[in-house]
Formats: sequence, C-alpha cells, structure tokens
Amino acid sequence: MRTSIAIDGPAGAGKSTIAKLLGKKYDLMYINTGSMYRAVTLFAMKNGIEPNEIEKLCSLIDELEMHFENDDLIVNGVDVSKELTNIEVTNNVSRYAAVPEVRQKLVQLQRGISKNYDVIMDGRDIGTVVLKDASVKIFLTARPEERATRRYEELIAKNVKVDYNSILEDIKKRDYIDSHREVDPLQKAEDAVEVDSSLMNIHEVVEAISKYIEEYKNRA
Ligand code: C5P
Repeated sequence: MRTSIAIDGPAGAGKSTIAKLLGKKYDLMYINTGSMYRAVTLFAMKNGIEPNEIEKLCSLIDELEMHFENDDLIVNGVDVSKELTNIEVTNNVSRYAAVPEVRQKLVQLQRGISKNYDVIMDGRDIGTVVLKDASVKIFLTARPEERATRRYEELIAKNVKVDYNSILEDIKKRDYIDSHREVDPLQKAEDAVEVDSSLMNIHEVVEAISKYIEEYKNRA
C-alpha cells in the first residue's frame, strides 16, 4: 500500500516548509495543492476568466497539464512557481478555490498522483476529502499574528516591500473564506493530530511530526 501523509492547516502555518523537509527525510513526493489552486487562479486571471464563469474555468483547467518536479509545480512544461506567489494571485486564490467545479477537478488530479507515488500532500482538505485514508493526518496551526510575522520576515528577506498589518489582514481574510466556504472548508479531520507551531522552530515541528510518521511505519 502507498504511503500518504496529509498536512492541512491555515495560510502561513509553515505547511510547505515542513512538508518539503519531511518529503526529503522519508523519500515522499511533495505535492503542494495550494500551488495548483494558485496556478488555476494565475491562468484564469491572465485569460480574464472570473470565478463565476464555470464553463470557461473548467475548459481552462482541462488545458493545464500540471505535475511536480523537485517540489515545484510545472504547468504545460513551464516552471511557474515564482508567479504563483505574486500578490494578485494571493489576493484572489480563495475566490477561485471556493468554486466546487474547480475543486472537483483538482481533487481528481491530486488523488491520481497519490495512486502512483508515495506522497506528502499539503493543503486545506487533504485529510478530510482528498486522502481520507491517509496513513498520517496532521493539522498544523499557529496564531495568526505568528503566521503574519513569519510571512513578513520571509518577504523582507527577499527584499519585497511589505506592510505587516496588511499581511495579517490577508491571513485573517483567507482563514475566514477558507473555513466558511460551502464546499470542503478548512477543518481538522476527526482523526488528524493537531500540532500548534506557534512556539516551535522548524526543527521542532519536523521532529514532532516525524514521531507520528515513525509510529505509522512501525505499525505498517
Ligand atoms: O497553501 P496556499 O496558501 O498556497 O493556498 C492558497 C489558497 O488555495 C488557500 O488560501 C485556499 O483558498 C486554496 N486551497 C484550497 N485547498 C487546498 C489548498 C489550497 O482551497 N487543498
């Protein structure tokens, strides 16, 4: 049976940093599902397609060939990772991710990958929808202020001009939209373990989650 590790949680909780490290440690393919929703948003916006134009959105997704290479999302042969984190995409992604037809198509793609590879997948609905039978489910959280501080420091280190308060506002707004949407809202799966990383460094979070992965491996 394939191994699948699900990491869900709100924006900025450190899911991708932690999932990448765990992927290397346990030889799992890292699937960043947020980047798939971001790619749909990027290409929809480039083509002037609004979230309520369902048919156009569905045909657009059918034309996007997405796969992961070295933790990065490749779309139609091009590494679009840099564009995916731009501010317009970040500010609009939750609107596109709330469209049921978009979710249906991306969930199908994500499940397809997990059938062929051992994966560590991060997102909002991995433990509750995409990989209901995941080997290990983690719900990674941190206080909004802590998450905003991390994102602020990350962007400052990249010489991006940012304002702490607007990052905090964006995080709170995305938390709200992601956990209140009708389809597959962000929520902890009943059988997920909650890890609050507010007072932990990266190494400590990796260690904490490794413990659950090791327990699974010993059982399997
Ligand atoms: O993880 P990241 O912050 O890049 O995700 C961007 C957005 O994509 C989230 O705010 C959420 O709206 C959406 N998303 C989702 N379901 C997932 C992953 C991401 O709805 N599994």
